[in-house]
Amino acid sequence: MQSGRGARVRDADGRSYIDYVQSYGPHLFGHAPAFVRRALSAALRRGTSFGAPTALEVRLAERVVAMVPSVEMVRFVNSGTEATMSAVRLARAATGRARIVKTEGGYHGHGDGFLVSAGSGVATLGIAGSPGVAAEVASLTVVIPYNDAPALEKAFERFPGEIAAFIVEPIAANVGLVPPRPGYLEAAADITRRHGALLVFDEVITGFRVAAGGAQELSGVSPDLTTLGKILGGGLPVGAYGGRRDLMERMAPSGPVYQAGTLSGNPLAMTAGIAMLSEIARHPPYDELESKGALLEAGVRKAIVEAAVSDRVSYERIGSLSTLFFAPGPLSDFASVKRCDTAAYSRFFHAMRQRSVFLPPAQFEAWFVSTAHSQADLRRTAKAVGESLAATFK
Ligand code: PMP
Repeated sequence: MQSGRGARVRDADGRSYIDYVQSYGPHLFGHAPAFVRRALSAALRRGTSFGAPTALEVRLAERVVAMVPSVEMVRFVNSGTEATMSAVRLARAATGRARIVKTEGGYHGHGDGFLVSAGSGVATLGIAGSPGVAAEVASLTVVIPYNDAPALEKAFERFPGEIAAFIVEPIAANVGLVPPRPGYLEAAADITRRHGALLVFDEVITGFRVAAGGAQELSGVSPDLTTLGKILGGGLPVGAYGGRRDLMERMAPSGPVYQAGTLSGNPLAMTAGIAMLSEIARHPPYDELESKGALLEAGVRKAIVEAAVSDRVSYERIGSLSTLFFAPGPLSDFASVKRCDTAAYSRFFHAMRQRSVFLPPAQFEAWFVSTAHSQADLRRTAKAVGESLAATFK
């Protein structure tokens, strides 16, 4: 891609697409919104990094704490990967335990311990983990199915007193979109608490997207630690982890748990983040994202019926996140999602691209709607879905 503005991206050959990748999530208001561009140009003149804190870092932290219900203190890093790695280190330090539990298909960035039955690109490439991850490291990660609270309880029975944390996407979005079953997140909070482990919500995708306070605001379930990224950086590289003050105070320099970064909290990234969260506070986009998501859903469902493929595809949506699965629903975990016909998805992706709609090129990803997608864009997309389904299954 060469450029992006609003709902559209333009590729190196000059072709324009309605974009549902949206950089995999940061662009809640579409590509390069004016309020981010203006703020960044002004910040650029003042320098790019100092190796010392700035007021901007504090201002963004105050916004995060105000918006995300369980976050009392927060530390900025440069990516979602750094956020999850650091949250797990903190959980291990706080509990004195080494094992972590994750879900099958849960994607938490590319830290060694997370590349075990991971979703997103790892799932697409069909590799269980990755060469280069030491077996000793991978063995500390216990993998359970998503949406399966009894499996979490069993993990604690199998490794009593050894599990530091359960890290989970409160709405799974790296296997395609799979919502939590009613009561699942509540059960996860109860089970981790009873066993003296921490609950970590990975809200790198859901944070500031499904609500100002993320999936924890929607569900009312309070994790001990939260990881954030994507929207938080307003399109620049930012991640964060935060949560209970008594835990976060264990991080250096106030505590002994080490984590640092040369460019963490740099003024450009903080400026883009502040611009983003300020815009969300000024003009909460969630009603608009819901109605735009619903318009797309209605069009896609109609296209599915008209193409007579209800027995071969299913569609899942929460607000501005959605996935068209090439398997009949409902899909509740990675095992069910893995039944999808990925070759059919691939044909569909190319058929959509020919119709100037850019989707994630793999089945195991969510589609992202932004406020910049117009009703005409969404209708055009639904029409392309109908034609592309027919072309996929012809
Ligand atoms: N957690 C989740 C839930 C993610 O979706 C991602 C990235 N897609 C990450 C962590 C890792 O973030 P990053 O790519 O910024 O390292």
